Amino acid sequence: MLLHFQRCQRRAFLDVWGDRDLKDPPSDFQRKLTEERLAHQRSILAEQIRQGAPVHHQPQYPFRDWQAGVKATIELMQQGVERIVRGVLAVERGGGDGEMGRWGDGEMGKEETRGELVTPNSEFRIPNSYLVSYPDLLVKEPGKSIFGDWLYVPIDIHLGKRPKPEYQIVAAYHAYLLGFLQGTLPEKAWLILREKGAYRVELERSLPQMQAILEEYLQTIVQQQEPEVFISRQLCSLCPWLGSCYPIAKSQQHLSLIPGVTPSRYQVLQKLGLTTLESLAQADPSSLEPDLERTVAEQLVRQAKSIWQQEPIAKPHTAFDLARILPTAPIELYFDIEAQPDLNLDYLLGVLVVDRQAQTETFYPLLAEQPADEAAIWQQFLDLVGTDPEVPIFHFSPYEAETIKRLAKLYRTPASQTRALLSRFVDVHQRITSMVTLPIESYSLKAIASWLNFQWRDAEASGAQCICWYDEWLRTSDRSRLDAIARYNEDDCHATYRIKDWLANFLVYDR
Ligand code: SF4
Repeated sequence: MLLHFQRCQRRAFLDVWGDRDLKDPPSDFQRKLTEERLAHQRSILAEQIRQGAPVHHQPQYPFRDWQAGVKATIELMQQGVERIVRGVLAVERGGGDGEMGRWGDGEMGKEETRGELVTPNSEFRIPNSYLVSYPDLLVKEPGKSIFGDWLYVPIDIHLGKRPKPEYQIVAAYHAYLLGFLQGTLPEKAWLILREKGAYRVELERSLPQMQAILEEYLQTIVQQQEPEVFISRQLCSLCPWLGSCYPIAKSQQHLSLIPGVTPSRYQVLQKLGLTTLESLAQADPSSLEPDLERTVAEQLVRQAKSIWQQEPIAKPHTAFDLARILPTAPIELYFDIEAQPDLNLDYLLGVLVVDRQAQTETFYPLLAEQPADEAAIWQQFLDLVGTDPEVPIFHFSPYEAETIKRLAKLYRTPASQTRALLSRFVDVHQRITSMVTLPIESYSLKAIASWLNFQWRDAEASGAQCICWYDEWLRTSDRSRLDAIARYNEDDCHATYRIKDWLANFLVYDR
């Protein structure tokens, strides 16, 4: 909850007070991320033991009975075992003054609890409350604690590569609770990160930050202050409350639905009294200065106007050569890739060949049925796009060009051939975002193409879902998964084609 609170206060609030019936079931991709995190932890622990670390102990307690988990963890700490995996830490937090007490000292560690307000979800109790934490690993070190000449330091194992601030705050929180449980605040807390390995959290800096965040969190929960909705595509796409938050944001015409309105820009708009879509659409961009840069202000107002009027608006631009920036040719290729990031694999190179004269559209799904086939599909791709070296190749993100460079390097394609190939690439996403503002909530392929009434054949398909489907194919050899991926990739190519044609027409009239 502390992790979620730092990313979105509303999420942490809903996890306690929200109606669970409104929560979205986890997607295949979310399940996959959870499984990967657990598998990663297991492999790190196994690797440590292989390298000579002492065997770890895990507290045994009934499922969900975290109080029994705390007792079992304390017993292991008293015994002085070297390493405790998935221990449970808790301290009691008094009601009025928020005074902290060691586990078992007060009323709340006992069977009966008094003055509790039981929230609909989980074991959370307020105003008297428990602070509970689940460090991945506790490691014994020399020192003084109530248990003897030893103490424990917390370690969290993350799939991420960076020591994100929110990870450090949670590690400081483990250390904080440990301080109460063992009578000595550990001097260290650690993160184990993917590829980068161990990272020491500076507790001197992180502890005060953590305490401030924790107090804010408790206040939000105790006072039942429901934080405002703020739709952020990156955060909300993996949140189980999106199905309930999005309709609220939509009904409010919330400014977070306007592309470009970040949390910090939102604060500025609030301060300036621009709290509705209409007010922002009608604002004079100069009135947003100096809080926002002129170009940012102009784009925000233009974006709001486009949504308010439900019309595309051309961006101001100098004269341009349409045939150069967005060529139209008798034959055009539309290219889209499906990748498996965990395997560092690009397993589907999909190419839609559009022959405008013959009025045909032919799709080539160059598919690596096994990871080892990537080299073969790369060669097939080079053969296919090499048949006519003049034909433009349209795609919808920088990813395709970056992947070409990766594959060319990996499979030793001559640099001159790669350069010639890349010179034919036209990024439709770059062209549309630099030339026009659309009445949409995001500039993703799906959002733009849907605005143009393009429909994917499979409504549940997405890039993330394809990652899960490919995993499933490798595990089960269920060919329907590969077919679904190829269908989705083909639709992505068609969607890019639709957007490219729309943009070319729009720019012709705009010139
Ligand atoms: S959907 Fe977004 S706004 Fe709603 S709780 Fe989740 S992260 Fe927060």
